Formats: sequence, C-alpha cells, structure tokens
Amino acid sequence: MAAPIAFVSRTTDANEAEWIRVLAAALPTETILPFRSMSAEERDLAEIAIVANPDPADIAQLKGLRWIHSLWAGVERLVAELGADAPPIVRLTDPELSRVMAEAVLAWTYYLHRDMPAYRDHQSKRIWAELEYRHPQDVTVGLMGLGTLGTQAAKRLQQAGFHTIGWSRSHKVIEGVETFSGDAGLTQLLAESDILVCLLPLTAETRGLLNGARFSEMKTGASIINFARGAVIVSDDLLAALAEGQLSHAVLDVFEKEPLEQESPFWQHPNVTVLPHISAPTNRQTAAHIVADNIRSWRQTGTLPATVDMSRGY
Ligand code: NAP
Repeated sequence: MAAPIAFVSRTTDANEAEWIRVLAAALPTETILPFRSMSAEERDLAEIAIVANPDPADIAQLKGLRWIHSLWAGVERLVAELGADAPPIVRLTDPELSRVMAEAVLAWTYYLHRDMPAYRDHQSKRIWAELEYRHPQDVTVGLMGLGTLGTQAAKRLQQAGFHTIGWSRSHKVIEGVETFSGDAGLTQLLAESDILVCLLPLTAETRGLLNGARFSEMKTGASIINFARGAVIVSDDLLAALAEGQLSHAVLDVFEKEPLEQESPFWQHPNVTVLPHISAPTNRQTAAHIVADNIRSWRQTGTLPATVDMSRGY
C-alpha cells in the first residue's frame, strides 16, 4: 500500500472535504485521507500530515510521521500543543497571503490616517467638522515584525507614501524603510510611530509585549493595529491607555479568546474597531499549490523548506 497523506483538522466536515478536494487536484498522484476515516494500517504508514488546527491526540497516533505541513501561516497554537518532540513543521508561506495582509494593513492604516473613526462618531452626533488633513509622509507607521507578512506590508505602506519604520529580532534591510532591532530599537520605534502595526508571532518573548509600560513609550494619541495574535497585547493595559487618551484608537483583528466573548468591553468601545480575524484569510487554491510543491519536492529530493524553530516558537 502506498503511504497516504493524513489530513488532520478540527474544522467542519464540509470545510475538510473542500480542502481535501482542492489538495487532491493539486496532488493527483497522492492519496490524501481525512484522519478520521483512516484505518490503523493507513495511520501507521502516513509520513506526511497536512494540518489545520489539528487535535494533538490525532497527530500522536501517526507513528510514522516524518513532517507536518500547516495550512496556516501562524503556527503558535500548533507549536504549543505539539511541543518540542513534534516532527518538523512547515508553515504556509504564500505570496498571496502576504499580499492580502499587506492590503489589510494599508486599508486599516488609511482608516486611521483619514480619521474614519472620528468622522463616523461625528456623523452619529450630527457634527459637521473638518479635521486637519495629514499628508502620508508626515505619518509614521511602525511595523512590529518584518517577516514574510511584515516585509510586504512595509513595502506597501512605503509605496503609499507613509513614513515607514520596522522592528524585528534580527536586523533587516528593506529599501525605503528604516529598521530597528533589540530593546532600544523597540523603544525608538514606539516613540516615533503614529500608527503601530503588530505582525509578530506569539512566542514566550512576545506574549504581553505590548503592555502599559510600552504604551507609555508611545506618542500621546497614537493608534494601534493588531493583526498578529491577541495575547501580544495586555488587554487591560490597552483599555487603560485608551481611557487615559495615551492611545486614540485600536483596530483589533485578533483576541486571546476567539470568537471574542460577548461580555468583552472591546465590542462597545468607541475607540476600538473589532474585526473577526479576517485580515488575511488563507486562499485554498494558492495554498494548495504551495503545499503540493513542497510535498513533491520532498518526495523527489528529500528536502524541506525552512521549518518552524520549535525553541524560538516561530
Ligand atoms: P514570520 O515570517 O515568522 O515573521 C515574524 C517576524 O517577527 C520576524 O521579522 C521576526 O524577526 C519577528 N520577531 C519574532 N519574535 C520577535 C521578537 N521577540 N522580537 C522582535 N521581533 C521578533 O511570520 P509571518 O508569516 O510574517 O506572520 C506573523 C504572524 O502573523 C503570524 O505568526 C500570525 O500570528 C499572524 N497572522 C495573522 C493572520 C490574521 O489573519 N490575522 C494571518 C496570518 C498570520 P526575525 O525576522 O529576526 O526572525
């Protein structure tokens, strides 16, 4: 029996079936089976698992697993749940996802730059008032995270004329973008940003990184966009910074608990825009082709693209 590929997820049957249909079309010589329908023999034979939020207990049953391909770019939950002994994990690195995220960063940067929350508020109060226009070059957008997504977002913002700066763990060179690293670099980025965009992975180092002390390093009245993971921000500290006017607005696409709980103060907050984790959805078609290329390449050469560094957490 040829080794089948296991598809392991905690999504709905319909969503799983659709993924398998698109993946099978991209990999016509492979057999991709939903984990639940696999026999004990098939589970023993599987060397590759394609996963979307899998149950770690299911992964543990695939004894011959050589590597895992995630259908998502963010692998923080997978890393936490599978632990250090997990087989190598390849995450989704899709130029289309980077394009969609860069589009979202630009869209919500414009939302803040062109004062849409304030004009919406004025409309609700029947206030006819013109706010001062700021040229993009006079607005500094600071990106936290200059990886696959952050780099594209930085380029898009820079092309749109915003003064763009960025921060990452290792030093990065991006034309037209001033870049920082290290703790002093973060302090500088926070001090200069009018709009701060978070595209950091959630790791032991970034959990709670944006807290009251960091908010107080920012310009009074600056705003924040979080498209990364909810737990990078300390929610209570964010609410305090908004109440004090230290921050003027937060666009939040991600939350510690999703869906956002009904009782969350963010829902009704006049200075918070709540989005339901939609900034960069995976595109099934482009993702399936990238997964297929990686699987074909491994079958032919035994090599994998860069895998997740489990000790770093991303
Ligand atoms: P990535 O390629 O791994 O890039 C991560 C960036 O963060 C890198 O520049 C990295 O620095 C930097 N970084 C990590 N830890 C750091 C630290 N402690 N201090 C400073 N910089 C640090 O990840 P990506 O593909 O761009 O994705 C980023 C995150 O976006 C994902 O982890 C996920 O949480 C989120 N995401 C959200 C959505 C959504 O719809 N909202 C969709 C997809 C992804 P180095 O360059 O030096 O390594």
